[in-house]
Amino acid sequence: MDRLRQMFNVVADGNGNASAASIKRHILASGIQLDDFRLSITMERLGALGEGPISFESFVALVGDELLMLKRTFNRELVIPDWEEYCTDLRMIHDRVANDRSGNNANYIPILRDADPEKWGVAVCSVDGQRLEIGDVDVYHSIQSVSKPLTYAYAIEREGPEFLQSYVGVEPSGRPFNSLELLPDMRPFNPCVNAGAIMTAGVVASSWPEKDARAITGEIMKLWSELCGEVAPVRFSEETMLSERETADNNFAIAYLLRGGKGLPRGVDLHKMLDLYLSCCSIEMTASMLSVAAATLANGGVCPITGRQVLTTDVVKKTLSVMQAAGMYDSAGVFTLEVGLPAKSGVAGAVMTVVPNLMGLATFSPRLDSYGNSVRGVAFCRQLVELFTFHIYDSLSGGRTGCKRDPRASQHNRKQRDLSDLQWAVSHGDRYATKVRDLLLECMIAITLADGEIEEPEIVIMAETYVEIMGHQPKQGELHAMARASQEQIAISGSGPFEQLLQRLRDECLQLDDNAREMILEAAFRVACADGIIEPEEDFQLRGIADALCINEGVLELEIARFQRQRAAQPSVVAG
Ligand code: GLU
Repeated sequence: MDRLRQMFNVVADGNGNASAASIKRHILASGIQLDDFRLSITMERLGALGEGPISFESFVALVGDELLMLKRTFNRELVIPDWEEYCTDLRMIHDRVANDRSGNNANYIPILRDADPEKWGVAVCSVDGQRLEIGDVDVYHSIQSVSKPLTYAYAIEREGPEFLQSYVGVEPSGRPFNSLELLPDMRPFNPCVNAGAIMTAGVVASSWPEKDARAITGEIMKLWSELCGEVAPVRFSEETMLSERETADNNFAIAYLLRGGKGLPRGVDLHKMLDLYLSCCSIEMTASMLSVAAATLANGGVCPITGRQVLTTDVVKKTLSVMQAAGMYDSAGVFTLEVGLPAKSGVAGAVMTVVPNLMGLATFSPRLDSYGNSVRGVAFCRQLVELFTFHIYDSLSGGRTGCKRDPRASQHNRKQRDLSDLQWAVSHGDRYATKVRDLLLECMIAITLADGEIEEPEIVIMAETYVEIMGHQPKQGELHAMARASQEQIAISGSGPFEQLLQRLRDECLQLDDNAREMILEAAFRVACADGIIEPEEDFQLRGIADALCINEGVLELEIARFQRQRAAQPSVVAG
């Protein structure tokens, strides 16, 4: 009963009653949508109950059938526990990237040339089905090359990887997507360049002798539909298909080259193969739908929205590998270096990115860079990975990631744990912990004196942090005395003491782990935010400290924004 009572308390008001509205609010705040299949019984019962107060007893009767899911939702046990915080960070990146108006729409067909270049949407779906949608996520657009990895997945699921690989390689090409160049054995480089996608379409087309290209496209659309959890209908654009056919000279050249070289699988008709390829490019979806499809890939083939296994994990593994090697046209190498995630872009402006075991991401913005990738889509991925530990090699242990954030559940209580470990180790005389404590105190004092004054709210925050790391209150006047001693130093030698502190941080940086450096910086900006605003001098010093500690500037900004939000939500903390 205790655990049920705890759950109830999360949604109950001061009178000890919950309501349908408060329950729904908590579910939405966790990132779960109200139409989630895992909560369908609860939602139906809530609907029947109406808007009246819900007592503890009715709550118990209400939640029983979907208790585990509700517990995870209410107790923030989903893969990204602090979903609202995470969404705020992603919105910040979205807004920043919106200012980038460089690049141009694809112009080889009217429908892409005339698309509104201002459209900008970002959609995210976690492997637990938490969803975020920002901006133009419901705009249908042709998926173009984003179709390629799925046609590949479909082909290997249907025909087996060996048969497919005898016709299509899995090597990065380093050449433009529409290049006529092939491997020495006349196979295309990989399924993500046109030649490889056309041959893959040939393999699929040859496996359905009785169906025409459009009917086979229908089968592939069904797979897309399952992959995106049927959140909206997958559409087909006749207009795109007609234009694609009219401008397909290069693709015809590739097809003839393939037929003349390796030969087509089972002698399939060249026009049927090309029609299938072009109609897969003409499938229309939205960023919102693609984010769920990406989440299904991130989740090993199980759609988080429906719980259905859509692709086998083995097929997903191969598909992601191919996306990683060749998904971003001929800048796939740079993308892997900088972003380090499997992704696929299309010339209509979509980028679908997979963070394995965590989430799917889809962006839509029609302006393309010189490689054919959406400018904003790539910029969003870059900035995301600058702030969060999503690059595949951010998992390297012992390295420096610039103190990037990890929104995963396992990180949830890390800060609290770190502080209590520090306190425990300091009290037993651990040298490392003592060093961290000293640097932490010195940085807080430096920030207190950034504007030359010792202000009371800053001393209050310092005292709070002191208690957290020392386990007891500072002695009467101790913090004031420390601050005044530094103030005198500054009076004698100007910025000298701060410069010395920065030098010491730089010297110690290599000996401090990510957590310690983060704690020091966090303590410093807690003080900087003490009176609700960060003065320019404080900002300058915070950046100096972050730089000396090798912490990404972006991470610092994110953290400051977060801290300010928390302060705004609980102004009472300032008062002690
Ligand atoms: N439909 C385009 C073509 O075959 C490919 C589009 C893309 O690369 O996204 O040329």
